Amino acid sequence: MFAARIEKLAESPVREILKLIDQPGMISFAGGLPATECFPVFDFSHLQTDLLQYGPSEGERALRLQIAESLCKRGLETSADRVLVLSGSQQGIDLVAKLMIEPGVRVAVETPTYLAALQAFDLFGAQYTDFNIAEPSVGNTRLTYAIPTFQNPTGHCYSVSQREALADACGQAGSVLFEDDPYRELAYGDCDRTPVCSYLQNSPWIYQSSFSKTYAPGLRLGYLACSESLYAPLVRLKQAADLHSCRLSQHLILRLLRSEKDDRDLTAFYRTRRDNFQKALIKEFSHLADWEVPLGGLFFWLKLKPEFATDTRQLLQRSIAEGVAFMPGEAFYPKGYETPATLRLNFSHASAAQAVLGLAKLAKIIATSVEGRV
Ligand code: PMP
Repeated sequence: MFAARIEKLAESPVREILKLIDQPGMISFAGGLPATECFPVFDFSHLQTDLLQYGPSEGERALRLQIAESLCKRGLETSADRVLVLSGSQQGIDLVAKLMIEPGVRVAVETPTYLAALQAFDLFGAQYTDFNIAEPSVGNTRLTYAIPTFQNPTGHCYSVSQREALADACGQAGSVLFEDDPYRELAYGDCDRTPVCSYLQNSPWIYQSSFSKTYAPGLRLGYLACSESLYAPLVRLKQAADLHSCRLSQHLILRLLRSEKDDRDLTAFYRTRRDNFQKALIKEFSHLADWEVPLGGLFFWLKLKPEFATDTRQLLQRSIAEGVAFMPGEAFYPKGYETPATLRLNFSHASAAQAVLGLAKLAKIIATSVEGRV
C-alpha cells in the first residue's frame, strides 16, 4: 500500500527517547535541547494580523536581507536572493535529500554523523561513503554532508587545513557540499569557524544554519543559502513541502536580530554547564571512557574503554529505568557500519546538580553491566 521507500523509513531514536524524558524525575542527556533558561523574552505585542496571511515561500524579505548580511560577515558572500527561510534546518536536510538523492546515489558523510540526516537520506535510498576528516576523499559521490563546526555528535571543530581539504575534495570530485552549521554561535574556545562553502571556487554548495540553538527550537526556523543553480529547485521543493515557514516566527526572530540588546550571555551560560559537566565526567568516567572537551556545541562524545565496551543501546534500557537518558552512539552511524561503543551526552539541558547525579548513576550502570564477563 505504501511507496517502496517507506520500508527504509526508520523511527528517529532521539524523538523516541524524547517521548520518555518528560517522565517526572528523568535526567536527560539525550536530545540536543537548549537550556530553557536561555530562551529570549519575546515581545508579541507588535505582531500584526496581516502576518496571519499567506507569505512568500522564500521567506520574509527583511529577514532574508538580515540573514544574507550575517552570512557575508562570516565569510560566505551571498545575497538575500539566494537565502531560503526554512521551517527548522531539519527541513533543509529533507529538501536537499529530495533534490539530490535517489536509490543508489552515494553521499559522503562523516562517521559518526547527525542521525536525523541519515534518517532523511536513507528514505531516498542513499548509499554512504565515509570521508576521513584528516584526508577527505569524496570521489564518486553526488553529495557531501558535513558539520564542520562543533560536529553532532562528536563536537569536533575542523581546523583551517581540514576545512581547505574538504573544500578541495568536493571541488575535485564535483560533489555538492552540503554544510550544516547549527552550532556555530555556541563557541566556548578558540577555533576557526569560517564556512567551508566559502572556500569553494566553482563547485556547487548548500550552507544551512538554524535559530533553534540560539533562540528557541519551538519557533521552527532555520535558513539555507546555496549556489545559484540550486536555488530555484530548492524553492520549488519548499513550496511543495509547506508553502512557506511560519510568518509569526519569522517576525519574532527578525525583531530580535535587529534589536541591539540581548541580555543573554549564551556562551557564558553553556561554557559553565560544559565545565561543570567535565568536572563530573572526570570524577565518574575517567576509568570507563575517553573523550575530548568540546570547544563548542552541546555534546560530549564518550568512547568506552575496551574493558567496558558494550552495546550502548542495551545500556539505555537500564538507564531509562533508573531515570537517566542518553543517546547510544550506534544511532549516528549508517546501517551496517561497525560501531564502536560510544555515547553522546548533551550537557546543556540538565542543571549542574542533575548532571552530577545523572552521571554518577550512568557510570554505575556501565561499570556493573560488564561485571561477570569473562
Ligand atoms: N542539523 C544538525 C546537525 C542538528 O544537530 C540539528 C538539531 N539537533 C538540526 C540540523 C535540526 O535543527 P532544527 O530543525 O531545529 O533547526
